[in-house]
Amino acid sequence: MADFDVIVLGGGPGGYVAAIRCARLGLKPACIDDRVNEQGKPSLGGVCLNIGCIPSKALLDTSHHFYRAQHEFSAHGIQTGSVEIDVATMQQRKQQVVQTLTGGIAMLFVKHKITHLKGRGTLLVDRRVRVAYPDQSQNAEEFSTEHIIIATGSSPVALADVPFDGKRIVDSTGALDFDAVPKRLGIIGGGVIGLELGSVWSRLGAKTTMLVRGEKFLASADQQVARAVQKDLGDEGMDIRLGARLMAAKKGAKLITLSYTDADGEHKLQVDRLLVAAGRRPNTANIGAEAIGLKLDARGFIDVDAECRTPLPNVYAIGDVVRGPMLAHKASEEGAAVAERIAGQQPEVNFNTIPFVIYTWPEIALVGRSSEQLQADGVEFNSGVFPFLASGRAHAAGDINWF
Ligand code: FAD
Repeated sequence: MADFDVIVLGGGPGGYVAAIRCARLGLKPACIDDRVNEQGKPSLGGVCLNIGCIPSKALLDTSHHFYRAQHEFSAHGIQTGSVEIDVATMQQRKQQVVQTLTGGIAMLFVKHKITHLKGRGTLLVDRRVRVAYPDQSQNAEEFSTEHIIIATGSSPVALADVPFDGKRIVDSTGALDFDAVPKRLGIIGGGVIGLELGSVWSRLGAKTTMLVRGEKFLASADQQVARAVQKDLGDEGMDIRLGARLMAAKKGAKLITLSYTDADGEHKLQVDRLLVAAGRRPNTANIGAEAIGLKLDARGFIDVDAECRTPLPNVYAIGDVVRGPMLAHKASEEGAAVAERIAGQQPEVNFNTIPFVIYTWPEIALVGRSSEQLQADGVEFNSGVFPFLASGRAHAAGDINWF
């Protein structure tokens, strides 16, 4: 008899939801996760809860309050005098939110009697998994299982010319942890992570410049929405430069100098801090995937079918390590569906209805295909737009520019 019914490799929104659903369905799951928090303590919840969705939303909230206090309170007759940001307090609050939520997952694991193996897992043949523990006093162990769910998530991609240094040239994790508002912040990449973290520091006073390689802003979104967002972010202080190709980056004693070209020619940009948000890659390099016979595509994603099955019997992969949008709720939905399938049910995930939200202000919500995609696909459609200008609630809230 195997040690477990299911071993889940990775404790992010894909992995922890899969493990909990397995337990609720009467299976015996274990979840292997190697993440530790700033105090070196195991911390479930993956990227999303520890260094992604949740901390970014906490900072977005603080920066939104700060911006409103500075720019909007006086119109309501609220007099504050000068408004200042205490970055240390903001960061403590963020950590508190993270701790509460990651602690909540740990409690759910206890409640559902899920074995949490706090180490690094490697896949072995014949549905065995090896766990190496960070604490050298504990020897590595091997476990057998009937089913494996791979949910090891993703990591930021560094650009060859601009390696991360953790302080001045950072990935999203570094930009969530700045201990002061940068005077000038450069961002490489025009995706959701760059937009959200750019919004945070720009609202708090950083002169923020975003270099976007493509000619179109938010190319996959409805372009009426994209244009409106670009304008509003510009009004909020973010300088977005489209068609910008980075030629060189030089790190001096104080400043980072970026050279780039766009339609107007060559430019130089000097910044104190640089966020490189140019994409993420699946964490599949060191988990033994290929050694057990799993196929990875050119970018490292694990090949799965619509039901998250790999070609190996009883081995599934979900979340950021497989095709589809890198979103927490997509990972969770796949995790729940795989658990149900293992338990003999017949769940279905409709990949055409995965919502996508960008938490700028106002927030942008997308679902399904955009008008541009429908046109390109030759699908007839009706479109409708309701302007906030015609909404009493929007007038009362002072948000009439949107639709
Ligand atoms: P992950 O969350 O990456 O979790 C994988 C876990 O597995 C990690 O803890 C990792 O340490 C562990 N692991 C990896 N390899 C091993 C191993 N060999 N052994 C043991 N453990 C291992 N998505 C949204 O939907 N909404 C948002 O608002 C949002 N905001 C984001 C903001 C930021 C700044 C970032 C970076 C991401 C954001 N995302 C958001 C994306 C979201 O975080 C991911 O899509 C989601 O976390 C993917 O879940 P996952 O379970 O696939 O993997």
